[in-house]
Amino acid sequence: MKIIKAPDTNWTRKHTCANCTAELEVEKGDVKYRYHSGDQRDPSYETWTATCPICKTDFNVPESSLPKAVQVEIKKRAPDNGPYGGGGYFDR
Ligand SMILES: [Zn+2]
Repeated sequence: MKIIKAPDTNWTRKHTCANCTAELEVEKGDVKYRYHSGDQRDPSYETWTATCPICKTDFNVPESSLPKAVQVEIKKRAPDNGPYGGGGYFDR
C-alpha cells in the first residue's frame, strides 16, 4: 500500500519526577502501556507509565498527551504477558 502521509510520531514530554525532582524528557520508547482487564464491578482500564531512571519510580503519562499515532506504536510493542511481566524490557 502507498502511504500518502505517515503520521508524525516524534513525541517527547517534559516531566519532573515527583519523587527525586529529576527533570526528564520522556520519549515514546520510555512509555509502558498496559491494559488492565476488568470484571462486572470494575471496568477495564489502560495505563501509560514511564519510570524515572534516577529513582526508579513509575509515573503516569497522561493519555491525552500522547498523539494517537504514538499510542499505536507503543501498543504495538507492549508485552502481552500478564501485568508487570518481562522486567528490564526498557533497559538500555
Ligand atoms: Zn525520580
